[in-house]
Parts: sequence; C-alpha cells; structure tokens
Amino acid sequence: MIERSSAAEILKGLGLAVFECHSGGLFTLLGEPPHWSGRFAFSKYAGLSSAELVEIFPLLETFLPEAGEFWATPQDVPLESGPWMQADAAGLVCTLQASAISAATRPFLLLSMPGERFDEHRAIIQRARSQSLEYGRMERHVRELADQKTHLESHNREIERLNRLKDEFLASMSHELRTPLNAIIGFSTLLVQEKAGSLNDRQKSFAGEIGQAANHLLNVINDLLDVSKIEAGRLELHQEAFNLGEGLSEVLAVIQPLARAKGIQIHAEDAGAGLPVYADRVRFKQVLYNLLSNAIKFTRKEGRVSVAARSSGSEIEIEVSDNGAGIPREEQERIFERFYQVAGSGFHEGTGLGLAIAKSLVERHGGRIRVESAPGRGSRFSFTLPSGIG
Ligand code: ADP
Repeated sequence: MIERSSAAEILKGLGLAVFECHSGGLFTLLGEPPHWSGRFAFSKYAGLSSAELVEIFPLLETFLPEAGEFWATPQDVPLESGPWMQADAAGLVCTLQASAISAATRPFLLLSMPGERFDEHRAIIQRARSQSLEYGRMERHVRELADQKTHLESHNREIERLNRLKDEFLASMSHELRTPLNAIIGFSTLLVQEKAGSLNDRQKSFAGEIGQAANHLLNVINDLLDVSKIEAGRLELHQEAFNLGEGLSEVLAVIQPLARAKGIQIHAEDAGAGLPVYADRVRFKQVLYNLLSNAIKFTRKEGRVSVAARSSGSEIEIEVSDNGAGIPREEQERIFERFYQVAGSGFHEGTGLGLAIAKSLVERHGGRIRVESAPGRGSRFSFTLPSGIG
C-alpha cells in the first residue's frame, strides 16, 4: 500500500526528469537530476508553465495536449511519445522521450533519454504504475468498506427497530396475559380454600391443578420478560442494605411447601442471620428461589438441600447444595446459557432460563455465580453479592 507522497519519491532520482502536473497546468520538478540540469539548465525552476516547458522542449507542444487527455482518464499503460532529437544547451544533439503516467492518482510527466539508463527508467515507470494500481485497489477497497458500513448501519437500525417492537410486544403481551392469570390463580386459591362453599376432594384437587398450571405459566412469562429486559439493558436494580437472614426466610417460607411435597428437608440453620447485604431485595430472592427450586427439582424424594451464607471481605457468599442428580462436568458452563437444559435429566418443568437470568442478575450486582457438581452425588451452587457493611 502506498501513500501519495511516496509515489513522487519513487519517480524522483536515477536521472529521470520528473514533473508533477498541478491543476492550473503548472509543472513542478521533483528532485535535481544532475546530468540533465547541466544540459538543459532547467533545474533552477521551481514551477514551469506548459509554455515554458515547451520552450525548453519544443516537441512537448504536441505531447502535452495528449498527456492532458491521458491524465483525465488515466490508463494502466503509460502514454509515451516517440523519441525526438534536440540540441542541449551546449548545442549537442541528443534523443529524448516523454511519458505521461498517473501514479497514486496524480499526474506526472517524465522525460528520459532512451539509450541512457533506459531500462532503469522503464522499471521506475513500471513500479510507479503498479503502485498506482495498488493505490487504486486500496481506494476501491476503502469505498467498498464504506458501502458495507452504510449497509450495516441501516441493517443495525432495522434490528434495533425490530428489537424495540419485540420489547413493546412482550411488555404489552405480558401485561395482557398476567392480568387474567392472576385472576385464575386468585380464584382457584379461593376455591381450594373453600371460601366460596365446600368442595369435594376431587373438585379441590382440580382447582389446585388449575392454580399450579397458571402459576407455572406466570413464571414462564416473567422469565421471558426478564430476559428481554436484560438483553435490552433495561433491567433496573434498586439496591439497598438489608439483613440476608430475613431475605432468606422469606424465600424459605415460599419454597418449603415444594420441598415438603417431595419429602426433602431444607437445612438452613441460621444462614445469613445478621449478615448485611447490599442488593436489590426482590432480585436477590429471585436468584435464591431459582437455585433452591432447582435443588428440589433435581433431587430425589427424601433428599437433602441446604443453604449457607458467609461473609468474606467486601462480599457475602451464599451457597445452595443438594445431594441430587448432579451435572456432568462438560455441561457445567452451559447450564448458565439461555434455554440450556441437561439432556437426560428426565422431564422437569422449566424453561432453561432460570440460571441464565440468575447469572445476569448476580453479575449486574458485581458478583459471580458458579457451580461445583458431580453426577449422582449432587451440586453446590454459590454466588456472591456486595456486603452491606460500609
Ligand atoms: P430450568 O430449571 O428451568 O430447566 P435453569 O436455567 O434453572 O432452567 O437450569 C438449567 C438446567 O441446569 C436444568 O434444566 C438442569 O438440567 C440443570 N440444573 C440446574 N440446577 C440443577 C441442580 N441443582 N441439579 C442438577 N441439575 C441442575
């Protein structure tokens, strides 16, 4: 790749008289060709009009107009005059030849003396020409890149527009779906609680099923909405300092019935009691709920799940362990990807979004989430959050 200035550098030297033609028809001599200056005495000129050039080299009178046309639409092959004879300043007759070339898109006039270093001159012209072509290619490449950039920009704008539409669609759909779902959940609960009169066992169990299915659907919708918010960078955190033990008890109160239904005991002792954490309380509970409900879901009946928390420096670490199915090593990274579920872990309710959301939530707090697991032996998920001290 060449720069504009280096084209002139290449053409200079080795005895060629090299003129650059500027707009307005002014020719400037590049360099000082010593064995020419003595013979034609023009090296002292900084800029020559075409008339002055013709005065020194009369045969340029016919060549310059042709060269003008050549420079207007440069070709790969240089334009060359035939050889002509003229007397130098000392009256000695010599043979001269003129070439017009375009190097790095700039017009140059070259004067040479065929026979004297002729091959060298030709090589220089060749080189300038190929560099000119390379420059042209580079310019084309730059133009193509600019076109691609414009294309990508408009493509990106379209993607952004569609993304916005998707977000708006999800937001309004989730609202439309959540309102009736909440009604279904609320009324089925009232039925189960026999607030509208007594039901027989079968009716109660059906009403319970309706409530559970509606709850599941509500969770799926909430997960989808969270993912869409996270992707759009629109997830807001409302961080505050609170007692970890309290947040944990609130989650346990909701999750205990699930555990009891499978005969699973949750060991929490006084986990987190008195430990201040600085986090979005709702999101913290969401992460913990997700880890606990997974632990229950992937642990056989009568299994064991435990929660522990400890403070380490400026962080609090929360840990959920189970002695359930475990996760093969090669899947342990992937379970944090959206929609990823370990194959062969049997049928379980779930979207495969929970851990992806948990990871984003923890990372938004500046924390980390990780898993240690051995198939058949169980899993230990742990995550960190900023401590609420200081
Ligand atoms: P979901 O539970 O909705 O399938 P998650 O993102 O919460 O989605 O989990 C992804 C997958 O990781 C699960 O489907 C399961 O295969 C695996 N997994 C998560 N937690 C556990 C666990 N405690 N024990 C075994 N496998 C787990």
